[in-house]
Amino acid sequence: MIYKLISYSEVKMPLPPRKSSYAIGIVQDTKGKKQIVQIDRKFFGKLKIGMSGQIEIHQTMDGAINVFSPNSYKEKVGPKVAVVTGSSSGIGRAIVLKLAKDGFDVVVNSASDSKKGEGVAREIKKIGRSAIYIEADVSDEMSVEQMIEKTIKKFGKIDLLVNNAGITRDKKLENMSKEDWDKVIAVNLTGVFNCTKSAISYMQKEGSGKIINIASVVGEMGNFGQANYSASKGGIIALTKTVARENAGDNILVNAIAPGFIKTKMVEAIPKSIIKKVIEQIPMGRLGEPEEVANFVAFLASDKAGYITGQVFNINGGLYM
Ligand code: NAP
Repeated sequence: MIYKLISYSEVKMPLPPRKSSYAIGIVQDTKGKKQIVQIDRKFFGKLKIGMSGQIEIHQTMDGAINVFSPNSYKEKVGPKVAVVTGSSSGIGRAIVLKLAKDGFDVVVNSASDSKKGEGVAREIKKIGRSAIYIEADVSDEMSVEQMIEKTIKKFGKIDLLVNNAGITRDKKLENMSKEDWDKVIAVNLTGVFNCTKSAISYMQKEGSGKIINIASVVGEMGNFGQANYSASKGGIIALTKTVARENAGDNILVNAIAPGFIKTKMVEAIPKSIIKKVIEQIPMGRLGEPEEVANFVAFLASDKAGYITGQVFNINGGLYM
């Protein structure tokens, strides 16, 4: 149903049940029925009588409220734009290629080996979409801010952030150095914090956005020799749920995917004898393909997944149920 804004007032005082300022408006549906709505403060100064939009019912502790969002700020102009960290190889590369096939313009990123990343950007251009490669270490706050600024300069917006960059430094806890611990937490977990913090302010201004965090099955079940990695991935799951809760009212949907063992260079680095034992524990009896993760990212990124937030999706061949 489309609603038209027929009057409004920007309320500067906090208005229960909300704690901050909201606009109050009256909208009319196509049958002429009027109703009172709240409008987020981010639309202050942008509201116009006659603008069309949609209503979402937000459940609060004090009951349901009807929240109006003008379409002109929801329907963004041009193709959707995705930033995918760690997309020069493996799962990230499969994700950017799939998103490009689905019509996204993309930012390809890695911390090193820019030739590889630029190669992936060229592959995307061949699909007919726009792509740039930006070298940035996700654990470095300044580099991340510059990457997001460059993205905005090039594309004007960010519709989707996929926090995919990740590393391993496996050792049994007593043999794990503090440096191994710090490095994995810095890239895998602080990297997600840095990218999310930097990108989310642009999504909030736009009034919509999606964030998909690539966690891991070991963030749910733990794994021998991966204290640092499993802690970072468990942290991503908790961070996902918190950011989802904090931003659902701004129409920013945040979810995590927890892949099992997927055929990439990360898994190729594990000794063959151990991989054989891992495969024996996977009910489907095989490793996953990067494309099998990418396909699910594409679904979550699509308009079909408009009512999903704060969830963790397992793609693991049944390894963890
Ligand atoms: P991969 O093939 O090793 O790819 C990792 C990507 O991240 C590369 O593009 C790498 O490029 C980039 N990267 C590494 N450190 C970075 C940093 N500090 N800043 C920016 N980019 C960085 O690994 P993958 O298997 O595709 O893994 C992708 C994600 O899936 C990771 O988060 C991983 O933990 C997760 N995952 C993988 C599996 C699996 O079985 N493969 C299972 C569960 C979860 P550079 O090294 O050149 O920077």
